[in-house]
Parts: sequence; structure tokens; C-alpha cells
Amino acid sequence: MSETQAGATVEVLSARDVPLGGPRAMTVRRTLPQRDRSLIGAWCFADHYGPDNVADSGGMDVAPHPHIGLQTVSWLFSGEIEHRDSLGTFAYVRPGELNLMTGGHGISHSEVSTERTTMLHGVQLWVALPERHRDSAPDFRHYVPEPVALGGGEARVFLGSLAGDTSPVPTFTPLLGAELHIAPGATVTLAIDPAYEHGLLVDSGDVDMAGTRLRPAELGYLGPGGDTLTLTNHADTPARTVLLGGPPFGERIIMWWNFIGRTQEDIEQARSDWMTGTRFGEVKGYDGEALPAPELPHVPLKARGNVR
Ligand code: MN
Repeated sequence: MSETQAGATVEVLSARDVPLGGPRAMTVRRTLPQRDRSLIGAWCFADHYGPDNVADSGGMDVAPHPHIGLQTVSWLFSGEIEHRDSLGTFAYVRPGELNLMTGGHGISHSEVSTERTTMLHGVQLWVALPERHRDSAPDFRHYVPEPVALGGGEARVFLGSLAGDTSPVPTFTPLLGAELHIAPGATVTLAIDPAYEHGLLVDSGDVDMAGTRLRPAELGYLGPGGDTLTLTNHADTPARTVLLGGPPFGERIIMWWNFIGRTQEDIEQARSDWMTGTRFGEVKGYDGEALPAPELPHVPLKARGNVR
């Protein structure tokens, strides 16, 4: 174990339950953003859901809604979701397959779990785009990483590089995103980029992240500086985690509803463009009405970031 890791402290971020809303409400566990930690690298939003029996919960039905200034990552452990967007994309989101949507200047999409789905289980993540690229053209990418053996575990690297594997999907800032499985009782030591901060979201297992125990649904945060990360699964069942990373995002952002901007005006303009039916195109094939934007608060929106 390196000196830097030995001295490092892991911050444990607990999830809060958030109902997704809509006629068939599903509840998600949100670990980012938090009051004291807005981003990990450019990762600015982390929702974790399931395993959710669709027969009880009704599954996922998110009507068309807009995004600007960010990318969305849909990553499933089980189930299947239909993605439709204003670029004309129709895609099935399936376990172990990256679906990366770039909102950039503006996109709209819908997400509905399919009738074939019995258990819905996965994460929904957002990436903040840097100032230079936040107005870029909308885009959609699909990629299926091959599993990589870790010795005591397995990794699926969907963004960035880890364990000798590199995702071919380009990002606007350096990023890491990977699903990691750790065998019962196993310890895995990963070489990591010392310039990156890391977040480990635990789905299952009792996992030590650099010596700090994380429970399922918790997100462990480790600051930059270390060149290895040691993970141990103390459970007698396999652990499943999602490792996120990137260099600290050096910009302050304003997040409101489905938008990321830099100023109040950015957000007001995007809201108005959505409500007047401009800028965000049209999602074809969704059965139902688009989501109306909520009212803006009467107090100015606050910028957040790791730059104080
Ligand atoms: Mn969305």
C-alpha cells in the first residue's frame, strides 16, 4: 500500500431517497450532489435504484424532458429501458452496456422500462460539461465493454481507463467510470491516476474502500494523491460497485431541474425554450405528454462546485 493511500481518509456519503415522480413513481437513492460535495471529477449526479420489482413499483416511465450542459450515463445491472431522443435515437439500455447521451446545447429524451423487464436495477449518472464544450452538439453513444479480470474480481470499464482496459468513448474532461465485481472475501488493488478524485458507489457487499467500510447504497469519496486503491469485500456474497473518477472539476456550475448552466440566465433561457417548444427538438414514439418544467424558485439559483 502506498504512503499516500495509507494516509488518505475516505468520506462516506449517504444516499437520500428521492421519488422520480410521474404517474408511475419509482424511488431512487441519490448520493450526488450533496451539500458538502457537489462533484467527483465531472460526475455531478448519481442516482441508484433497485432491485425494483416492476410488478410492484410500476417500473420506470420518464416522459420527454430536456437537458443542457451535461451528459447522461444510463447503466443497468438488470432490466431493460427504452431510450428515445430528439436526435431520432431509439436504443435499448441493457445491463453492462453504456448509453451516453450528450445534452450539450440541447436535447430531449424519454426513458421507459420495457414490458420484458421484471427487475429494474442500475444507476443514472450525469457528467458536467466544461465551459469550452457545454454548448456542443447533442450526441448519443452506445458501447459494450468486455469484462476484464482483476484477480479476485472483474471490471467493466465504460469510460476512461482502468486495469489495462480503455473505453473508446471520448469524454470532454478526463473521466473514469467502471462497474467492479469483487469476489466474496477478496481484496483487489487497482492502479489509479493520482490526479483523479474517486467515488465508489456500493450496490451490494460490505466493501472496504482504502480501509473505510461502505454499506450498500453508500458512496465513498477519496481525494486525489494516491496511486493505488485497495478494495476488500468482507461479505460472503459477491460485491458489486461502480467506481467513478476524474480530476477535480475546476468550475462552479448551476444545476436546476435537468439543466446545467453557469448563470441564472442560462437556466431561465433553457426553461423558456423548453416551455415554448424550441431548441430541444421532439421525441417521437413516446406514448404521452412531455414533462412541463417546474417553476423557478423566487430566490436566485446558487452556483455549486468544489471551488469555494
Ligand atoms: Mn434525462
